[in-house]
Amino acid sequence: MVEKFENLQKTLRLTEIFYSIQGESSFMGLPCIFIRTTGCDLRCNWCDTEYAFHGGEKWSLERILRHIAQWPCKLVELTGGEPLLQKNLPLLADELLERGYTVLIETGGHRDVSVLNRHVVKIMDVKCPGSGESETNDWENLKRLDQKDQVKFVIKDRTDYDFACEVIGCFGLQNSPKLLMSPVFGVMDAQQLAGWILHDGLPVRMQLQLHKFIWHPDTKGV
Ligand code: SF4
Repeated sequence: MVEKFENLQKTLRLTEIFYSIQGESSFMGLPCIFIRTTGCDLRCNWCDTEYAFHGGEKWSLERILRHIAQWPCKLVELTGGEPLLQKNLPLLADELLERGYTVLIETGGHRDVSVLNRHVVKIMDVKCPGSGESETNDWENLKRLDQKDQVKFVIKDRTDYDFACEVIGCFGLQNSPKLLMSPVFGVMDAQQLAGWILHDGLPVRMQLQLHKFIWHPDTKGV
C-alpha cells in the first residue's frame, strides 16, 4: 500500500498531454490520449517533434492519471521525444494497464523495450539511413517484440526502402510483428513509395500521418 502510494508520487518530465486521433500504426483513426515526454537522445533528420527535446514540466503519475480521466477514452499512447529515457515510464504503463487502458508506446528502437510490461503495444522504429541515426538501432529489440507489436520504417528515399527490405528479410519479419511503412512527410512521394511496395508485394501496412491531413502539419498537440 505504502509502495503503491510512493509510486504514484514519482514523476516524469512531460512536454504535453492531449486528446486526438491516432495518426499512425494499426490503431490509426481511433480516439487516443497522447502523453508526450520531454527529451530525446537521437536527432533524426526528419524529426517533427523537436519542440519536445527540451523544457517540459514534471508531472507525478497521480496527476497524469487524474488529468487523463477527463477524456472518454481508454487508449493511451506514450510518445516523445523518446519515452524510454524516463525511468518511471514503465511504472506509468503498469498503472495505466491496471486501470483498464490499452497502452501504446512509440519508441525510436535504440532503447531496450523489455523494461515495459509485455501487455504494452510497442510501436518501434527501425531507423533507416535517411534518418542519420541508423547506427543506433538496437537489433536485439526485434527479438523482444511479439505479434501485437509493430515495427515502423520511415522512408525518405530508395536507399531507405532497400534498407527496410533487407532488414525485413534478414530478421524474418514477414509474419510478425506488424510492419508499418511511412513516407517522410513532404519529402518522399507517397505514390512512388506505394508503387515500390506493390511491385514487391511487400507485407507492410503503408500509412500516412493522418493527423497531418486533419489538422495543419505544423499544429502541435493534435
Ligand atoms: S527518435 Fe523520434 S523524437 Fe527522437 S529525434 Fe528521432 S523522430 Fe525525433
